[in-house]
Amino acid sequence: MKVLADPQVFQQQSRKWRTAKKSIGFVPTMGALHEGHLDLVRACRKKNDATVVSIYVNPLQFGPKEDFGQYPRTLQKDLDLLQAEKVQAVFTPSDKEMYPEGFSTAVEVKGPLVGGLCAPFRPGHFNGVATVVVKLLGAVEPDRLYLGQKDAQQVAVLKRVIRDLNIGVETVVCPTVREHDGLAMSSRNQRLTLEGRKTAPVLYKALKVGKSIVDLGERKAEKVLEEIRKVIEDEKSVKIQYLEAVDAETLAPVWEIKPGIMIALAAYLDNVRLIDNIII
Ligand code: AMP
Repeated sequence: MKVLADPQVFQQQSRKWRTAKKSIGFVPTMGALHEGHLDLVRACRKKNDATVVSIYVNPLQFGPKEDFGQYPRTLQKDLDLLQAEKVQAVFTPSDKEMYPEGFSTAVEVKGPLVGGLCAPFRPGHFNGVATVVVKLLGAVEPDRLYLGQKDAQQVAVLKRVIRDLNIGVETVVCPTVREHDGLAMSSRNQRLTLEGRKTAPVLYKALKVGKSIVDLGERKAEKVLEEIRKVIEDEKSVKIQYLEAVDAETLAPVWEIKPGIMIALAAYLDNVRLIDNIII
């Protein structure tokens, strides 16, 4: 397994694969890898000759009051896990390699895709994500990009960026991988206290309650969201940041629940921000 940090060296590697007619699949991550990431890696390996994983905690996508400093960094363990998955190459650029002195370009995403959900609470976040992913795609030049449904707004934004900027990559979205108690796997889960970890599954439990109410015939989004909110608010330590019903593609708010609707939420627990969603 190659571990490369220089974008230009990575481009050379990718060109070698391309010349040898090998397909390249790419899984961008911020490290602190868990089964959710490894599921993307495995899906990527199945379809591509070369699997590339990037590990980079991108400062551009964290707000000044967010957890950039506390974000877990476990590089050696991550590399061991990727080696065991038989990944061909890992891209681990430094901040200087990603944003050298004089760096002056950014991708700006506008419009309804960044009108709700996480965007109003994380100003600049999706521009930071879009900019870093465009840079990573430029270094890796993959045929396929693997993303997790857990970060549904990120998926919608990146698909749009790829379309708008004519980037020749196919996007593959993989389902959310969960702990045995339903909690969506996240690198941030390790920052929960023991008590917080016990409480955190309430988020998915509440989303499932919402889905079961829909299955029983309820079509008013407001009613469904109200029931979900009640379940979560039973846990006093959980603070909901947003809870919305949106169209899963356009992310526009909806008032009537139909197939293809997504219910998404963000909540704080132990000062840790968790997100989750369910597609009805
Ligand atoms: P991150 O390291 O959090 O930036 O995530 C890297 C990629 O892994 C993103 O495409 C995420 O959506 C995806 N991912 C993170 N957690 C999960 C999960 N529990 N299930 C599926 N994909 C995930």
